[in-house]
Amino acid sequence: MISIEVAFDLIDNQVAALANEQVQLLDVVGRVLASDVTADVNSPPHDKSMMDGFAVRSADVATGLKKLEVIETIIAGGLPQQELQPGQSAQIMTGAPIPLGADAVVMVEQTESSEMDGKRWVTLRIDSILPEKNVLRLGVNFEKGQTVFAKGHIIRPTDIGLLAEVGACRVSVGARPRVAVLPTGNELVDCSELPQQGQIRNSNGPLLLAMSQGLGLETRDLGIGRDDATHLRSLIVDGLQSDLLLLSGGVSAGTMDLVPGILRELGVREVFHKVCVKPGKPIWFGIWEQDGKRCFVFGLPGNPVSSLVGFQLFVRAAIRKLRGGIIEDEQAVLGELTADHETRGNRPTYWPAKVVVDGVNRKFKPLIWRGSSDLFALGEADGLINFPADSSDHPAGEQVRFHPFS
Ligand code: AMP
Ligand code: MG
Repeated sequence: MISIEVAFDLIDNQVAALANEQVQLLDVVGRVLASDVTADVNSPPHDKSMMDGFAVRSADVATGLKKLEVIETIIAGGLPQQELQPGQSAQIMTGAPIPLGADAVVMVEQTESSEMDGKRWVTLRIDSILPEKNVLRLGVNFEKGQTVFAKGHIIRPTDIGLLAEVGACRVSVGARPRVAVLPTGNELVDCSELPQQGQIRNSNGPLLLAMSQGLGLETRDLGIGRDDATHLRSLIVDGLQSDLLLLSGGVSAGTMDLVPGILRELGVREVFHKVCVKPGKPIWFGIWEQDGKRCFVFGLPGNPVSSLVGFQLFVRAAIRKLRGGIIEDEQAVLGELTADHETRGNRPTYWPAKVVVDGVNRKFKPLIWRGSSDLFALGEADGLINFPADSSDHPAGEQVRFHPFS
């Protein structure tokens, strides 16, 4: 049995990114950048006014001059026609280019406009103005040629504005992995059915499909596989056409746990079987390759919380790599336990927990949880607390590592 760290290393070494593709800007949220995105413009593209008002020469104002001639009006999208001479100003709108000669903008609220002798005038209701006031100089946000997003960045909705600003209307990202999901077990019935004696609803299938969709994968539901070698074999052969095949159940030591044997028989190379983690120990991982095609296969334990933890830890890591990202250090958050908690056994444990906000602190409340078959506690959980292997009594207030679900 290997450690969690060794399992991560093996996934990291074995899983390679899928090919890249060009995707329209509005379809790239959640995708991983395949190359750096650089700006093809300066931001702002010109020295620009941050206010509606009057562009002035701050030196004029410093001499006590209050009344300036207005030589033109510059609107956003327009261009200044003249350079400001001493004693002159230009009416200017937010975002419009600053005329040559000007070095500050007086906001309209601090001015009074008038007309005299066929000319326009502005009277300033200020005594001084600092050079650069209300002026944003060309390129201060970013410069042409500058990298605005680095390869590997996962694009969020809030990134789309900047991508649009730099002209990235088609973006090179890692391909969307296709995942096939195959829950197995003679006892399973579909969610639409009322389980009879000895039966249980298939919760892993929908769970794994939903978690995969949450990561932006293209999913395929292979239905429920029965504990029958011929039947399973044909479904698995089908599933191997995807980039990723997630099986659940049938990977431990029971007489009907047929999955590892069939995978091996079909030429799926085993990378690991069993990881020292609770829940989720019997997890199986392997790779199938044929004629340039490749499928990464996870056999997740049947108990739903084991499947969930296996997905959160290991499948998600593989998906990150497939999408062109990196397996980063697990994004754990440190915080205090709200209550005493005991762990037993010699495996690191992931325990369902709820985030409790206590003033400015976030604390973690371990939930009542009956083990790997108990999905009820997960309904209230925001993530999992990771308790180390060799510990047992954890008093309230102890610092723990919490892994949020999102
Ligand atoms: P297995 O790993 O096949 O031995 O299954 C372990 C336990 O998980 C058994 O109690 C199964 O009934 C349960 N189980 C297996 N597959 C599923 C599933 N798809 N949904 C819900 N429970 C399952
Ligand atoms: Mg089973």
